[in-house]
Amino acid sequence: MSNTDFALAVEDLTVSFDGFKAIDTLTLYIDRNELRVIIGPNGAGKTTLLDLICGKTRASAGSIKFKNEELTVLDEHTRVRRGIGRKFQTPSIYENLSVFQNLEVSYPAGRSVFGALAFKCTDEVKARVQGVATEIGLAQSLDMEAGLLSHGQKQWLEIGMLLMQEPELLMLDEPIAGMSARERELTADLLKRICKNRSVIVIEHDMEFVKQIAHKVTVMHQGKILAEGSMEAVQSNPKVIDVYLGH
Ligand code: ADP
Ligand code: MG
Repeated sequence: MSNTDFALAVEDLTVSFDGFKAIDTLTLYIDRNELRVIIGPNGAGKTTLLDLICGKTRASAGSIKFKNEELTVLDEHTRVRRGIGRKFQTPSIYENLSVFQNLEVSYPAGRSVFGALAFKCTDEVKARVQGVATEIGLAQSLDMEAGLLSHGQKQWLEIGMLLMQEPELLMLDEPIAGMSARERELTADLLKRICKNRSVIVIEHDMEFVKQIAHKVTVMHQGKILAEGSMEAVQSNPKVIDVYLGH
């Protein structure tokens, strides 16, 4: 397989903050339809890596190619249009709008809340909202005010808002933090479904959850990759046990 066959090819990526390299000559390849989990101690650079891929932070050096197109020269909005979706740790849903409206405003035709509400709700948008609501388990709650959803449901709604844009790479930073055991199970099922037709990168600490969802695991430490491979290989790697799992 050549490097151009990967969905995402990150090569020699570096970012310095006042001389401190939060990401240090990191190289990482993600396949199409792969669900990759990134683990590692606090401060390893996991969130910074997602910031660099989505364009929230600019790289100091190196390359990020998505479907063989260089992303580092594109701004954040252009990367969204290229199919990069990013979920941050705190949900950013519109609490006073319904579940339906939250999904509707996320349809790519609606660029702002006001523009999208004025936008005529076509059958196509409705069908897409229905499909996504079913996918995230909120089809029965479309008329509910989003602020009244449980913590887990809010997280799923935000994933749904990203799915409305049909991303080809979806990145999630600690998606199950604060969820109940049942919500974690449902989130694992959801992630396994949504990686069937896109690549997904998940940052997570809960090793039981990682075991359930990961195709491959990447372990980061001090802005570099410490280990990469199957869950079993990574869990028994002495370097990984030393810097992360042993604690
Ligand atoms: P992780 O998500 O693995 O816990 P982060 O990516 O949040 O780690 O942080 C990696 C390191 O980079 C930390 O030492 C953090 O303080 C530093 N860092 C992250 N963003 C910035 C920034 N914008 N300015 C300065 N330092 C930063
Ligand atoms: Mg982080």
